[in-house]
Amino acid sequence: MFYYDWTLILIIPGLLLGLWAQFKVKAAYAKYRKVGTQRGVTAEQVAKDLLSRDGNSGVAIEPIAGELTDNYDPRANVLHLSQGVYGNNSIAAIGIAAHECGHAMQDRHSYGPLKLRSPVVNIGSNLYFPIFLAGILFSWRPLMTVGILCFAVTLVFSLVTLPVEFNASKRAVATLAQGNYVSEEELRGVKAVLNAAALTYVAAAISSLLQLIRLLILSRNSRD
Ligand SMILES: [Zn+2]
Repeated sequence: MFYYDWTLILIIPGLLLGLWAQFKVKAAYAKYRKVGTQRGVTAEQVAKDLLSRDGNSGVAIEPIAGELTDNYDPRANVLHLSQGVYGNNSIAAIGIAAHECGHAMQDRHSYGPLKLRSPVVNIGSNLYFPIFLAGILFSWRPLMTVGILCFAVTLVFSLVTLPVEFNASKRAVATLAQGNYVSEEELRGVKAVLNAAALTYVAAAISSLLQLIRLLILSRNSRD
């Protein structure tokens, strides 16, 4: 059955879209990290301001190693800004910092979809394939079904990530414009960086969806 596994074709669109999205993020980041804003405030200072405007002074802002590793950790209440962002005043750095502040705002205002993002679902993404493969090899349907269900949880996670990410970027753009941290022209650069980042999540969701379709086809064909 694996000799004629035409369903592998289903993996290609997601893979290509993912690579394209990665390329777009790198290109947008490389372009706008070199352009400083007129106001010249650093990303760390902008993050501090945006959080305090939101009445959220309990969040610590700390630097983190690596490139584009920025994140907000709701459990530790820490906003991590990567090396290229933390003390930087570029359009890219300001946009990324504001996006992470968007997640902190979601947390503070109990934005529903954020709560659905839990590390538990990551277990399903690692376990599904060995389980599903064992089900195929032993032609044992219940095992295939368990594998597919594990993967379906991963897909839900992938889909829930979309509104969370789009909403954080929306909050970032709105608060940056309100506080006049960037000019209208600069805001276009912020949007270019954040939209490219959002595209990587869209690519991941589409990949997961196609993979689920593939698993369903494989499990149905294994009956023959
Ligand atoms: Zn995000």
